[in-house]
Amino acid sequence: ASPACTELEVVMLDWLGQMLGLPEEFLARSGGEGGGVIQGTASEATLVALLGAKSRAMHRIREQHPEWTDFEILSKLVGYCNSQAHSSVERAGLLGGVKLRTLKPNNKRRLTADILREAMEEDKRKGLIPFYVVSTLGTTSSCTFDALDEIGDVCATDDNVWLHVDAAYAGSAFICPEYRYLMKGIEKADSFNFNPHKWLLVNFDCSAMWLKQPRWIVDAFNVDPLYLKHDQQGSAPDYRHWQIPLGRRFRALKLWFVLRLYGVDNLQKHIRKHIALAHHFEKFVLEDERFEIYEEVTMGLVCFKLKESNEVNEELLRTINGRGKIHLVPSKIDDVYFLRLAVCSRFTEEK
Ligand code: PLP
Repeated sequence: ASPACTELEVVMLDWLGQMLGLPEEFLARSGGEGGGVIQGTASEATLVALLGAKSRAMHRIREQHPEWTDFEILSKLVGYCNSQAHSSVERAGLLGGVKLRTLKPNNKRRLTADILREAMEEDKRKGLIPFYVVSTLGTTSSCTFDALDEIGDVCATDDNVWLHVDAAYAGSAFICPEYRYLMKGIEKADSFNFNPHKWLLVNFDCSAMWLKQPRWIVDAFNVDPLYLKHDQQGSAPDYRHWQIPLGRRFRALKLWFVLRLYGVDNLQKHIRKHIALAHHFEKFVLEDERFEIYEEVTMGLVCFKLKESNEVNEELLRTINGRGKIHLVPSKIDDVYFLRLAVCSRFTEEK
């Protein structure tokens, strides 16, 4: 009931997609099927992609095995992600009623093709059917990047497994061409998502998602009661079929304001400044022999710790947060507790 809301969203997602250097297949301006949509959160995007993957897989398997019931097919479907992926991925599996395996990454905490292939082969031997993979670009705990390019090849060779890319935080950095090497292989993905509300100065909530074949989601969610029919059906994306709720906010408006107000150059400066500040802090950590860096610094997140026990680091965190000037959120990987400094405010300065 609001053509302007739909139209501006189509245009804004094309602008944003071009800013990130997304392949044309994801953009509405290509004239193909693909396009973008604004979801509320990355968790919703992961679930929506999983439901699309499920509907595509069900369609294919029903054709191959007309003798199987839907219940039998569903019980065989299995999806995969890095064990460092955000908890929302596992949750999407629970909500979508399918198995989702979290895989132990390599020693750099990246999910690689070998790890994924081995898990898929193992499952296929058990009679299961791989159908969905989530590749994380910028994990929540320590901001590591899965080997998207190789993972894309595994998904492509294996009966068309749907590849979703979760770049919730780090995706904003791809507006700077020098960071796009981290999303190498993006053309092999079926869907891509990041949160402009995390690091691109757009107020919560605004989670941008692009799909190459939205038809699988539209099919999965399509219901067509008389009170929702209209004369313009088919002339523009009917975003109600691309998401879980029916009603939607005019979120493209705030994206439009931010893009017009700052412009691409200033948004790039904002990202570069934050990454430079993170490296500045990293330098202090490296210069102080009491501390160590826990993970390579690539974005605005610095994972660091005292070269002491977990308990001593927990005490340090309590002291820092207790003073109320800096707020740090810790994490733990393989039983190692570390502190995380995230530069994300517009007002953060070197001093
Ligand atoms: N994915 C990653 C990699 C994240 O870091 C986060 C949040 O921190 C999420 C997903 C969940 O984001 P949202 O709150 O938008 O669902």
